[in-house]
Amino acid sequence: MADQLIRATAADGGIRAVGIISTRLTEEARVRHKLSYVATAALGRTMSSGLLLASSMKREGSRVNIRIKGNGPLGGLLVDAGLDGTVRGYVENPSIELPPNEKGKLDVGGAIGHEGFLYVVRDVGYGYPYSSTVELVSGEIGDDIANYLVTSEQTPSALVVGVFVGAQGVTAAGGVLLQVLPKAARDEALIATLEDRVSQLSGFTPLLQQGLTLPDILERLLGDLGLVIMPEVQMVRFDCSCSFDRVLGALKLLGKAELQDMIEKDNGAEATCHFCGEIYQASSDHLAQLIEDLKAESV
Ligand code: ZN
Repeated sequence: MADQLIRATAADGGIRAVGIISTRLTEEARVRHKLSYVATAALGRTMSSGLLLASSMKREGSRVNIRIKGNGPLGGLLVDAGLDGTVRGYVENPSIELPPNEKGKLDVGGAIGHEGFLYVVRDVGYGYPYSSTVELVSGEIGDDIANYLVTSEQTPSALVVGVFVGAQGVTAAGGVLLQVLPKAARDEALIATLEDRVSQLSGFTPLLQQGLTLPDILERLLGDLGLVIMPEVQMVRFDCSCSFDRVLGALKLLGKAELQDMIEKDNGAEATCHFCGEIYQASSDHLAQLIEDLKAESV
């Protein structure tokens, strides 16, 4: 099934639900960054989480950045997701591989590290972005994002995100976010019900592998609670806003002397975008033009 995100409500608007399938975009990230199995799972879970968080924002152009810095061998991880359904991200050490954990699953918590911090920045496109930091709970991502939503945004939330990656690459990825909205925030029984149902799912990717669609999965979770699925299906994809012009802009900041040095020593310059792995080559002619531009601007 194509990568997509759907929104729903239940309990007379007391519950907000969002589901996402992110199989292809996670596979694209795996290939672009040459990610190991465990790095694919870590980045894939975080990209799904970023899109799920961004989905509740209202203003066009809104984005969410999630940065995770744990004490594990994967190093840092950064994801940038938009309300428009685009997402990109990278990990510091993409080739780290670990043995499976005691449940026989990819050891994302071990790779990220069980101690560290989760930073979330919500940027609605003007003024000061809203940023917040929480300590990691497990490094497994899903628990950490849910904890962030509960403690930092005061929204009782249950979240499951998963990635299945094998020799053929990523064959299933996605997740579900269930939130209790302010009108029902004091309804302890409702909150407990949602947490209970998500914990009974035993993962998200097995549901996709059984052939269930997002509406099927939401129906299974909330079908008896007055589920209303919004008709719009939003497409989501890996997308990076980098470009050759932006690379030239960054090179220009190095200044005339440094650019001249690159022309003489390297006959040009090569830059790799952290977010998407795209490699940009600037020739000596490009660099010479930047020097000319700088000279013209300094007159
Ligand atoms: Zn890029």
